[in-house]
Amino acid sequence: MPAVADETIAEPRPCRRCSKDALLNVHGCCADCIGDMGLRHVDEHGTWRAELAELVKSGAITGG
Ligand SMILES: [Zn+2]
Repeated sequence: MPAVADETIAEPRPCRRCSKDALLNVHGCCADCIGDMGLRHVDEHGTWRAELAELVKSGAITGG
């Protein structure tokens, strides 16, 4: 019987950036958008990272 990881209970959520349903959704953004921001929209990526860091600091989510 395979171990059940936390990810398996996650439900697809619409990405706030591209509106696609994504199972991997970090602070509202899907993996595609996170990669796109990191490569082509560095300022946007920086804002997203800062917001994510605030959430982690406030305890709303746990990092790693
Ligand atoms: Zn997206």
